[in-house]
Amino acid sequence: MRFSHSRVSTFVQCPYKFKLRYVDGITTIEDPKPDDPLVIGKAMHMGIEEGIPAAVKWYSEQFTVLNDLHIHEIIKLEILLPKVRNLIDYDTATFELEIETDDFNGFIDLIVKNSDGTVDVFDFKYSNNVDNYLESEQLHIYKHYLEKINQVKVGRLGYIFIPKVFIRQKKTEDMYQFRRRLIQTLHDSKVRVMEIIYDQQKVDQFFQNISSIQVAVDYPKNPTKLCDWCDYQEHCMKGIDYMLILPKNERVQVDKETAPVLWLYGLPFSGKTTFANQAPDVLHLNTDGNVKYVDGARIIIRDEIKVNGRIKETVFAWQMIKDAVETLCVGQHDFKTIVIDLVEDLLENCRIYMYDKLSITHEADAGYGKGYDMVRTEFLPQIRRLTNAGYGVILISHEVISEITKRNGEKVTTIKPNLQDKYANKIAGMVDIVGRVIIEEDDSRWLKFKTDNIQFGGGRLNFGTDKVELDYNKFMDLYRTAKPETGTRLSEPVIPQELTGEVSSESVSEVTSAEVTSPVQEDKPKRRSRRAV
Ligand code: SF4
Repeated sequence: MRFSHSRVSTFVQCPYKFKLRYVDGITTIEDPKPDDPLVIGKAMHMGIEEGIPAAVKWYSEQFTVLNDLHIHEIIKLEILLPKVRNLIDYDTATFELEIETDDFNGFIDLIVKNSDGTVDVFDFKYSNNVDNYLESEQLHIYKHYLEKINQVKVGRLGYIFIPKVFIRQKKTEDMYQFRRRLIQTLHDSKVRVMEIIYDQQKVDQFFQNISSIQVAVDYPKNPTKLCDWCDYQEHCMKGIDYMLILPKNERVQVDKETAPVLWLYGLPFSGKTTFANQAPDVLHLNTDGNVKYVDGARIIIRDEIKVNGRIKETVFAWQMIKDAVETLCVGQHDFKTIVIDLVEDLLENCRIYMYDKLSITHEADAGYGKGYDMVRTEFLPQIRRLTNAGYGVILISHEVISEITKRNGEKVTTIKPNLQDKYANKIAGMVDIVGRVIIEEDDSRWLKFKTDNIQFGGGRLNFGTDKVELDYNKFMDLYRTAKPETGTRLSEPVIPQELTGEVSSESVSEVTSAEVTSPVQEDKPKRRSRRAV
């Protein structure tokens, strides 16, 4: 195994998490929040190196569709990035220098060449937890390898801290007032450059940790408060595995002839069900009744009352779905394509089923987060099971429109499936492609793929085009040529919270700009600050 700072840090933080990620090669469905540290961190790096438009474009592309929270993060990028860029002399700077040996791999964010032939090494951190980073082994390791492998003398080591601004819209504020306060807070915040002194003991500790990894047989769980930011938390703590993506050699081989997994959304009667009906050996699991216009096999999903003598018994629609999924996954049938029509109705069926089971009338009645959690962990695994079963699967939803407010105050309409984002983003991660069915003025119908940030889209495959005629055979011609979507997120995740112990903006109460920019106490002899790189 080739080691990196983040791999070793993961092992130190939790051996079990290390095993899942690096030994078993298991990843999870990506569903980044607007302030996801990985996405923001990568956008910051891109903006520092390539400019603000590149950062904003890349950031926007990471999401199925944008909302106002994404616009807030874009505002942060646009105000903070110039502050960092102003510190850098681009004539002497090299970005993202890779160090690669037989047993180590790392990327140095910024190298600055000095006139005496030495170089300075800097790492960008989008964080307010300065002290934790100053104790990190990361830069010491980089200096060690850079001098050993690249035969270059390293002068200064330092971090460039980009402040995180956590403020939320108050109930008394409208969007304009909140944005004005956010912009002012961002302008008041300060980027800080902090140097550290090289410490050989940090490098020795790194190699000791590598030795521990090399002899590890057991990988115990290490539950800490950081578990709340662990991608594997649900699997680790509750045994829920619908979010897991197994390594390639263990995945069901995608049948490029019969097994596309897609999610269509669009207006009612736009041709979605007719399109799905053209698929081979199709079975419709239908909730909205429009299956009567097509000829494929169908199961009508609805609550049914069974009367047995004087006793009435309700067979819930969701139970019918569970039974159908169970039967389909066992095999012993000739269906090759399963159509779920409509996904949002199924979620509603699931809710009603769970309300009955829990004797509640709304998710909130089960206690904070618990009801929602139980509906989610009942619903999504069934969808996951179906999309993983090796059949063609076509999920169908209606579309809804909503509005976002751009930075300049302009209102823009976004179009997405009729499902809450927390469900929609997860399902988008389970399918090959999400497509919106559109009807042109000449009544031609198209399946349109995501090309902008106002239309919901995503998926695991890249179709290399923005639309295809709404015809199953034409879609399949395209599907056979589709390529896997290349990951745009960091391949070697470095979760800042793991190192810093900081909490996400979801759980941070509002802090003032004074807190954001408060100077670090320089009471430790190894630290000193400087103004510019
Ligand atoms: S949830 Fe906690 S204990 Fe479990 S793998 Fe993640 S970090 Fe380790």
